[in-house]
Amino acid sequence: MSMLNVGRPTRPDAAAPTAHQSLSGGRGLLQDEPLLFELGGWEKTGVDLPEPEFDAADLGDLVRAEPIGLAGLSEPEAVRHYVRLSQKNHAIDLALYPLGSCTMKHNPRLNERMARLPGFADLHPLQPTSTTQGALALMDRLAHWLKTLTGMPAVALSPKAGAHGELCGLLCIKAAHEAAGQGHRRRVLVPTSAHGTNPATAAFVGYSVTEIAQTADGRVDLADLEAKLGDDVAAIMVTNPNTCGLFERDVIEIARITHARGAYFYCDGANFNAIVGRVRPGDLGVDAMHINLHKTFSTPHGGGGPGAGPVVLSEALAAFAPAPWVVSGPDGLQLVEEAVDDAAQAFGRMSAFHGQMGMFVRAYAYMRSHGADGLRQVAEDAVLNANYIKARLSQEMTPAFPDGPCMHEALFDDTWLEGTGVTTLDFAKAMIDEGFHPMTMYFPLVVHGAMLIEPTETESKAELDRFCEALLQLAKAAKAGDADRFKGAPYLAPMRRLDETQAARKPKLTWKPESGTAQAAE
Ligand SMILES: *Cc1c(COP(=O)(O)O)cnc(C)c1O
Repeated sequence: MSMLNVGRPTRPDAAAPTAHQSLSGGRGLLQDEPLLFELGGWEKTGVDLPEPEFDAADLGDLVRAEPIGLAGLSEPEAVRHYVRLSQKNHAIDLALYPLGSCTMKHNPRLNERMARLPGFADLHPLQPTSTTQGALALMDRLAHWLKTLTGMPAVALSPKAGAHGELCGLLCIKAAHEAAGQGHRRRVLVPTSAHGTNPATAAFVGYSVTEIAQTADGRVDLADLEAKLGDDVAAIMVTNPNTCGLFERDVIEIARITHARGAYFYCDGANFNAIVGRVRPGDLGVDAMHINLHKTFSTPHGGGGPGAGPVVLSEALAAFAPAPWVVSGPDGLQLVEEAVDDAAQAFGRMSAFHGQMGMFVRAYAYMRSHGADGLRQVAEDAVLNANYIKARLSQEMTPAFPDGPCMHEALFDDTWLEGTGVTTLDFAKAMIDEGFHPMTMYFPLVVHGAMLIEPTETESKAELDRFCEALLQLAKAAKAGDADRFKGAPYLAPMRRLDETQAARKPKLTWKPESGTAQAAE
């Protein structure tokens, strides 16, 4: 981004003393921000309400004896507080967000416009379906696109995240086995490189989990899979492209031997953005696969909003799909809600109502604005961008799997940091000082000191170059012995290096008057 900067430097003055400390704790137009409760006086209020007229006796012993304890703020105080907080964190609207296994870096504003149309946004899920035909039509069209893109005959739209979709898929598999008298199948096979949600989901459904080994080139070890595929196996869960950013070349063979032993093939489709429009998972022998709308079809992710994890299902599992789904009847579109007739085998429901309607609208808007050819190009550009990063950074860093191209993400290990005294974590922290959010670190676990970078299709070559330049310069600094730059990083962020283990294990989630800001925040 360039700004009109005549007479007004837009970048920090390189000559400024780095040790400079402000007197207030603020920093370059960013104020040190207290917590809301410390900011607002108890006795103040932002609104001017008339004294209520009521008889305290009406409330009996419910009359409040003490002040409510909420911070009282005027409107500008409240607005500034939240805007200042928002500036202390990173956002996908500020810069490239290189996290791997994560996807969406940019959510087109058009989607947001569509999701806010009152005809979608103001609906109530209990409205009569005669008044919600447009929303049902959208769900039906979205289902059609998901089925067409995956080559699968059925889809359950209601799961609300990728992990929720995994649960839905495994519950379908469990129901199918039980219906076929195969309820004794209690084991699920999961490769070592799998996302943690895969074994967690299997365990949650009550299965025991067996790990499948990985080959030296980062793929499922077929021989190990075959050896472990007993008659007690309910399903395998394989991610494709996998979390090393590699396409499972033997995927058709994996499906074949899995089916031959009476097990189902669950595919973790969180990385569908790498193959959408190019490969139909149904053609690969997949029985169930969740699609993270928030990773492939541009709906906001994480703190940006709720996810949605529809699950596509093969012929063998379709009958067990959870309610509801949309059907066309004499009175227009209807929702199948009851487990009767055609839905008699549905295993139940995954959520109240229909799922994340706002995400359906965004995903559908994204699909329609790209078209089938555009979605194909999304996958191609995402893969091209990742390979560009892999090629450029390989000048200084060591790719975990150097042979051949990667898919949508480039994975590096920490071999290149050996002897520098700098770790993956230190390197990631130094990236913050350079203005870049760190990549995914230490995942997948099968790669030592992993650094997983996913640019997606929306980054320009100029932005990729800026990112690569910063990382290459940092890599050179690490190798040149400038370990101080890394050990204390970040130096320039609003918060310095935090004790992340403590923060994760003992988060302070409530504020009490006696605890100070620093303690609550760090
Ligand atoms: C993100 C992800 C998941 C889980 O999706 P959520 O929506 O975060 O629950 C599962 N598997 C893989 C490979 C992922 O990248």
